[in-house]
Amino acid sequence: MKVGVVGGGINGLATAWALLGAGHEVELFERDRLMGATSSASSKLLHGGLRYLEHGELRLVRESLRERAWWLRTVPELARPLLLAVPLYRSASRPRWKLKAGLWLYDRLAGKAGIGAHRWRSTAALTALMPGLAEDGLRGGYTFYDGQMDDYRLGLWVADRVRELGGRLHEHAPVRRVSERGTLVLSDTERAYDRVVNVAGPWAERLGTNSGIEDGIHLDPVRGSHILLDRPQEAGLLLEAPQDGRPFFVLPYQGRTLVGTTEVRQSPDTPVVCSPEERDYLLAAYSHYFRDDAGREDVAETFAGIRPLIGSGPDMNRVSREYRITRRGRLITVYGGKWTTARRLGREAARIAAR
Ligand SMILES: Cc1cc2nc3c(=O)[nH]c(=O)nc-3n(C[C@H](O)[C@H](O)[C@H](O)COP(=O)(O)OP(=O)(O)OC[C@H]3O[C@@H](n4cnc5c(N)ncnc54)[C@H](O)[C@@H]3O)c2cc1C
Repeated sequence: MKVGVVGGGINGLATAWALLGAGHEVELFERDRLMGATSSASSKLLHGGLRYLEHGELRLVRESLRERAWWLRTVPELARPLLLAVPLYRSASRPRWKLKAGLWLYDRLAGKAGIGAHRWRSTAALTALMPGLAEDGLRGGYTFYDGQMDDYRLGLWVADRVRELGGRLHEHAPVRRVSERGTLVLSDTERAYDRVVNVAGPWAERLGTNSGIEDGIHLDPVRGSHILLDRPQEAGLLLEAPQDGRPFFVLPYQGRTLVGTTEVRQSPDTPVVCSPEERDYLLAAYSHYFRDDAGREDVAETFAGIRPLIGSGPDMNRVSREYRITRRGRLITVYGGKWTTARRLGREAARIAAR
């Protein structure tokens, strides 16, 4: 079968990889650069998503934990286990028992794919681990493990696997329209395939509507921004933003400190950048927890991406990160999907395409 794939983010690449593995011929079209959009603007975590447990998404968490282990095992040069702490302050909204229960379940769901168990640490142990952490009101905290990746280079690693299997990857090749007949319109040509898979991430719905296709599935585009501080960080932290109680991360990343993220609804048609308000929000959240405040002059870089979340609701934090795949004639459309679970999404899309 000849398959045309639209989108060169991690989900498009993983779909191409799975299709090639199943013996199909694949050509992928990316309007810009491979891995140039959402997939290189993530929090860099290969994770089960501890906070999805609160929403009862056990299946998603278990599968993500298995995938986490696969990436860590298979590409150790670009993915490593990361120690993360959840400090418990007197002002915390979640009680200690709830945190303990969540981390216990997280370890259990990982099972054999576990990379280290959670444990309680005293205030002294925690501040020894993370010098500079504000001690006022600190009652100790838990540590646990997740994976951290270089998302951009890990995605390019997948692109190399695709090329090795004979996949053809076209960059700077925007697709104008797709059709249920299996055609795909580029700026100057129309090409015909046995199947076309639209994996355009946050732009998948837009490509569908531009092609006159209405699937009844709506993406809820929510921007998430990060700042990179020019200072080292020993271990990762999962904290509650003092402004609104939202969870956010402070992570060591390539010798700097990565702080994120935010949640701002935006159209995927407008530029995806970290706003000054988001930068200041993240700086204030960080400075709340560290004795050495961070100011605008400490920000070495900012970046932003749009989460391709499915459905909508008033609480953006509660929207499911899972994906949906639809098929209409020869056209398959992928909505949503996390980085960590891209391989599984790719296999599922390839299976639906082959039916
Ligand atoms: C702030 C933030 C933090 C995140 N953190 C994590 C995390 O730590 N761990 C995790 O597992 N997940 C995380 N995610 C989720 C994850 O990053 C995304 O779900 C995933 O990267 C989406 O990949 P994708 O391939 O579907 O989309 P994208 O990476 O956006 O790829 C879609 C591609 O399609 C291309 N495209 C669009 N339209 C067309 C067209 N018409 N023709 C050709 N090409 C087109 C785009 O240019 C783009 O390159 C995070 C997301 C955000 C926003």
